[in-house]
Amino acid sequence: MYVGTPSSSSSSSRSHELSIPDQIRALERLAQIDAELKELQERLSQERSTLDGLKSGIAKLDEKLAADRATATSMDKTRGELIQDVRNMNQQLDHSREKLSRARTEREANAAQRELEELRKLLRDREEEIGKLTAGVDGVHQQIESTEGEHRKLVDDLAAREGDINSKLGDVQKKVHDKSAERDAATKTLPPVLYRRYDMIRSKRGTAIAQTIDGTCNACHMALPPQLFHRLRREPILEQCPSCHRIIYFVAPQATVASAPSERG
Ligand SMILES: [Zn+2]
Repeated sequence: MYVGTPSSSSSSSRSHELSIPDQIRALERLAQIDAELKELQERLSQERSTLDGLKSGIAKLDEKLAADRATATSMDKTRGELIQDVRNMNQQLDHSREKLSRARTEREANAAQRELEELRKLLRDREEEIGKLTAGVDGVHQQIESTEGEHRKLVDDLAAREGDINSKLGDVQKKVHDKSAERDAATKTLPPVLYRRYDMIRSKRGTAIAQTIDGTCNACHMALPPQLFHRLRREPILEQCPSCHRIIYFVAPQATVASAPSERG
């Protein structure tokens, strides 16, 4: 699958057409820019997720506070109603005591006594409920206080860091903007067909170019068919790796040694 555009063999060579080595250099430049852009985008999303994390943490605590406050309010209301019940029962109790004191027969006295006992039992039940509710409401209030503390801490944290994060975001966004402009310029130097292929592969694989020195693709590490490797080595051409489909070209071993500082041990 031949993907290069050799200008030397073309009879109607146009002035903007690049030689294969120049196309390779342009591809490498573009790949470098894309790697830098990817890193910048990762930094952007990191900074954004820090900010989003703080904000969503605060929003969650807001929700929890609202729910707990509603619970406390409704418990307070129930407690108020029970306290009113107890007041009414105490009045009934007074009334029953009066009846008992006015009783003339044993039957009347017994009836008033039973009424008193029943009321006392109901009263005990209500008071027990009130006790439980009071403890419950206290628990909810403690919970609210501790959530308010957490909430304050997060709000302070956000206030302390938001400016810094936003300025970092602005910084990185500017870099992305500049790098994108650089990318636009770099893509224009490439033959459009080659660029479209590059971008299609990049969108699928993350990176779009690969090199071979010894007959294996250095991106997917699969061995290339010997004939393909032979062709790649014979003259500068651009092909696609049969395994990963990245645009592949041959790099002479000495070229890689020359580009890296040699280490002697
Ligand atoms: Zn490959």
